[in-house]
Amino acid sequence: MKADEWARDLEMRERESCIEHARKPLQQGNGICVDCLEAVEPERSSSLRCISCEQDEEHRQRTRYGHRHG
Ligand SMILES: [Zn+2]
Repeated sequence: MKADEWARDLEMRERESCIEHARKPLQQGNGICVDCLEAVEPERSSSLRCISCEQDEEHRQRTRYGHRHG
């Protein structure tokens, strides 16, 4: 393999890994809860929130659309 081909190949690979990295869906959590900024349970690492915040959020949604006022 010529040197310039090798360089191009390497460059392409680096670009691909960059794109792959950038393509990661934003909705996916990074292991940190978006609400309390604590570490999310490992088994929920793809979630945005930890379990307690997820429950809080569910509760908020329920009360928001429920019968409670304010
Ligand atoms: Zn949390």
